[in-house]
Order: sequence, then C-alpha cells, then structure tokens
Amino acid sequence: MKPLVTLLLAALTALAITACSGLNAALSGSPFVLKTVVGTVDPYFHGPGIDGTRFEKITDRIYTYQWNWYRNIVIVTEVGLVVIDPMNGEMSSALSKELAKHFPGVKVDTLIYSHYHLDHTGGGAALSPTHVIAHEKCPTYWNAVEHTTVLEPTRYIAGDTTLIIGGVEIRALYMGLSHTDTLYAFHFPSERLLFTADLGLVRTMAPDGVPDRYAPGYLAAMNRLLTLDFDTFVPSHFGYGNKQDLADWRDMMESGRKLAHEAIRSAGSVGLREDQMGKYFDAVYYPMREKYGHWHGFDQMFVLNIVRDLIGEALGH
Ligand SMILES: [Zn+2]
Repeated sequence: MKPLVTLLLAALTALAITACSGLNAALSGSPFVLKTVVGTVDPYFHGPGIDGTRFEKITDRIYTYQWNWYRNIVIVTEVGLVVIDPMNGEMSSALSKELAKHFPGVKVDTLIYSHYHLDHTGGGAALSPTHVIAHEKCPTYWNAVEHTTVLEPTRYIAGDTTLIIGGVEIRALYMGLSHTDTLYAFHFPSERLLFTADLGLVRTMAPDGVPDRYAPGYLAAMNRLLTLDFDTFVPSHFGYGNKQDLADWRDMMESGRKLAHEAIRSAGSVGLREDQMGKYFDAVYYPMREKYGHWHGFDQMFVLNIVRDLIGEALGH
C-alpha cells in the first residue's frame, strides 16, 4: 500500500473511531490508534536538513559532522585529530571515512566522551584513537548495563579540566548533576566556540523534556555557560548557531517550567480535581505556542515536555 494511502486510512480510521465512541474509548480500545498517536513524534527526528550526513568546517581548527539528528565535532591539532563523542558505530564508521578523505594519513589522537550515555559513547573503536578521555564516574553507570560498544577510556578526569592537545586549549567544564553527573561542556577559547552534549539546541524544542535531566542543576549549567566568552554554539543534535541561541533555549526551558509551576499552584496538585490535566494544558500550551510554536518540534514534543515539567515541578527535580 502506498504510504499516503496508508496515512489517509490511518487518519480516517482514527477519526471514525474517535467520532463513534469518544476519544477515551478510542485510546483505550485500539493499539492501532495508540500507535498512530505515538507515531506523531516521528517528524521531530526526520526531515529535510536533518536526515543524511554533512561534514563542515566551522572555524580554523574545528569541523562538525552531522549524522541524521546527531552532531559531533572534530578538532585539528598538531598531534592529530580530537573527536568529541563517537555516538554509535554507524556514525563513527561514516565519520572515519570522511576523516580519511579530508585529512589523509592523520590519526585520531584523542576521543573524548561528553558524558556516559550510551547513545554518545558507542562505536569509538572505528576511529582508532590513541587516547580516550571520560569523566571518572562513567564506569559506574556503564558497569550496570550492557556496554560492549563503548571503547574503554585510557584516562579519567573529574571537575573542570583544561586539556592542551597538540597546541589547542580545550576547556572541559564539569556541569555537575545536570544531564547525568558525568557531563562536560567544551569551550575552545581560541576558536570562540562552545560544544555541548544534550544541553541546548538551536530553535528546537527539547526531546522528551531532555531525558535524565535534573532541572535545577541543568539550569545552573546553562547559566554558567552563558557567562563564557564565545560566538559559535554547537549542540550535539540538529543545527548549530550562536551564543544567543543558547540563551533563547535556556529561556524556553525556563518558560515551560515556570508555567508548569504556576499551573500547579492555580489548579492544585494532581488528583485534586477531575479536569486537572486539561487545566494544566491550557495554562502552559497557549503561552508556549505564542512564543515557541514556530520552533522545530513544538507540536511533536509539547505533550512529552509538559508532562516532564509538571512531574519535575511536583517532585522538585
Ligand atoms: Zn545524554
């Protein structure tokens, strides 16, 4: 069946079920409808400008590689290349070929992990780095899960650490308990560039409220980064931009959070009344849509983000 016909049929079926028996009945009675609802998130991760791979030069020494919705950076130094985050085997194998093309005969000297998450630390072996650097707490988390794709670090660091590799100063800034307690952001003073992993995006809503986020620490981390002197902001997902983009993203995250806080204050805590969720929705959705409705992923991620903000506000995390 052609995709368009399938889509139309799915939409019509969902409409018919909803019209006949009400939304609640449709959702509780049909895995097909539930699957259709879940599928509405798909366009967040795909589309023109997102799918595919691109290798680009951003500053004198720094390049960025985009692999679908992931993005990492490559730094050219006097002792070889430095890569931050291999992400996964497919991406690092593809990057390895790209590096051989652009820098023939130049080795990857150092691979740095921004944090322990498996979707950032898989597949590093394809880059054959001489050194691998990670936060000292990463193994605690890796050892609790299957992590055979993670190339083992050769050096562990803790706290703020200035790395000088092949004449390039890389300031690894420890972000505390923010997005895990193993997270580093990377400031390159000579390039006036900041790279962050899972902390900030460019005119794009957060995916799923940013998984594994401790909101108070995450806000403190963003505020700290905004005191630094840099022009180019490169996040580990979607497009890159400038310092203002990080400030805008911080404001967006804070707006959602503050609205969730006020919603709970005016409509009461969960369980108090029958129409609680609808009240929360009205209090957060309309002001957020006014300001951020044009950002990538607003429709797809709104529900997941409001749920995360409400839970975070209610629990204090
Ligand atoms: Zn992560």
